[in-house]
Amino acid sequence: MSKLFDLKGKSALITGASSGLGAHFARCLGEAGASVVLAARRADRLQSLQAELEQKGVAARAVDLDVQSGASVAAALDAAGPLDIVVNNAGISIVKAALQMPEDDWDAVVDTNLRGAWLVAQGAARRWVADNRPGSIVNIASILGLRTIGHVAPYNASKAGLIHLTRALAMEWARYRVRVNAICPGYIETEMNSDFWKTPGGQKLIERIPQRRIGQPHHLDGALLLLASEAGDFMTGSVLTVDGGHTVNSL
Ligand code: NAD
Repeated sequence: MSKLFDLKGKSALITGASSGLGAHFARCLGEAGASVVLAARRADRLQSLQAELEQKGVAARAVDLDVQSGASVAAALDAAGPLDIVVNNAGISIVKAALQMPEDDWDAVVDTNLRGAWLVAQGAARRWVADNRPGSIVNIASILGLRTIGHVAPYNASKAGLIHLTRALAMEWARYRVRVNAICPGYIETEMNSDFWKTPGGQKLIERIPQRRIGQPHHLDGALLLLASEAGDFMTGSVLTVDGGHTVNSL
């Protein structure tokens, strides 16, 4: 049974691997047997993750990637070499009331979360189709692509767009054996937000989650491995919510 999720011999590129969930996804895929290509802008952080993974016996390589730039995406995919799995994880959020959100902030969020994921997916799929090679793309969306909160309108819109892009690409690329699926994480504790969950505001938010807890990065491992591996071979266009029940809370 464990063979179903085995990634030995596979190569996986993870965008935004320099911190948080991206670094965790690289560890998870590496521990499942994949060789990993760590793609992000902060070379120093990538190098220390690469060293950590290599010490655990995981083949890891760092490539420079800014998903806002088509030229950078193409260069990173060329440097990565043949891939089997791409995890579109790079993402940003800017918190401002919609009435005060400047045009540049909208562009930064949507260009990273939606246009960036599109460029990486298109670049990977073009290479797979040219090589007649199957592939799996896992887009890291968010429950904020399904429901909304205030003051992050471009983030909400970009993640909703990414969910629908997942379905559109899944439909178009199924004939090429390219699978495209998405994970919608709920609130997951990372180094960036861990202090917030101890505040009264954070505690109040946790009370609205049916499981009454914040997710940990490892809670996403099952969904990621399912979508990335042979276990998910008949899955494409799927959107998996992993949120402790947050999106089914009582209205
Ligand atoms: P994070 O800020 O630690 O990670 C985001 C990563 O993306 C960083 O490594 C950053 O450098 C990288 N990045 C940003 N812009 C980039 C660009 N132009 N090119 C390349 N890399 C870029 O945050 P995180 O919490 O680890 O989030 C990872 C993903 O998970 C994001 O897409 C986020 O929207 C999504 N997500 C997170 C949560 C959560 O609760 N942590 C919940 C739902 C979805």
